[in-house]
Amino acid sequence: MSAIDYITEARKQGRAALDELAGKRLLASFGVSVPKSLVVQDATEAATACGNLKPPLVLKVVSPDILHKSDAGGVKVGLGNAHEVEEAVRAMMKRPAIEGARIDGFLLEEMAPAGLEVVVGGLRDPQFGPLVMVGLGGIFVEVLADVSFRICPIARLDAEEMLDELKGAALFRGARGRNPASREAIVDVLLKVGGENGLMMTHGEDIAEADINPLIVTESGAVAVDARFVLTKV
Ligand code: ADP
Ligand code: MG
Repeated sequence: MSAIDYITEARKQGRAALDELAGKRLLASFGVSVPKSLVVQDATEAATACGNLKPPLVLKVVSPDILHKSDAGGVKVGLGNAHEVEEAVRAMMKRPAIEGARIDGFLLEEMAPAGLEVVVGGLRDPQFGPLVMVGLGGIFVEVLADVSFRICPIARLDAEEMLDELKGAALFRGARGRNPASREAIVDVLLKVGGENGLMMTHGEDIAEADINPLIVTESGAVAVDARFVLTKV
């Protein structure tokens, strides 16, 4: 499917947002790396599907009713084998916040190597049109609001300046015994979201909000392990 098909399909189903798998496929169609993943409906199917993926694996609930999967007990990382995956699906189904929700299935995916967690987003300003943002993940974005914005389209130099502006920019070089994170890989993703031919410039009419949270960045690359796209109202 081409990028626009994921959006058309979601609209046809009357959805306000893309599910995580569609969101990741949309990102992949723009050249952003995403984990290898698939969607299953139950524990038995999950156990069988494991054979197509390389552990450790991550299991996530897919539901239009659940925005923050972790808060709902809907994310389980570090699953080592089919048995663990099967048990994790059964346990997840019983979580109070999940039991009562509309469930589209469970996303099973390969775990990205550990790295620095960064947030990349896109949104629409009524006055300026599409914007692109970057921030440092976790408490940096939630508590310290260490983020930087630009109006689309951005060029490579703009993306680099956005990273320079972050208060936590030293973290890219590796601080306190952490490994460095590739600025180049983040710049690349920023261009794919906010550049001339990026997502927001080519599909901004349809995308009210794009959120890659987190993008996991290592010395050698970056993987979008969570993707949320909210569609514009028609
Ligand atoms: P939510 O934001 O809805 O709670 P996420 O999909 O962002 O759920 O997952 C929560 C956290 O789990 C992420 O911030 C990340 O730290 C970790 N995580 C999720 N998917 C992966 C993955 N494929 N590889 C490595 N870590 C992951
Ligand atoms: Mg997330």
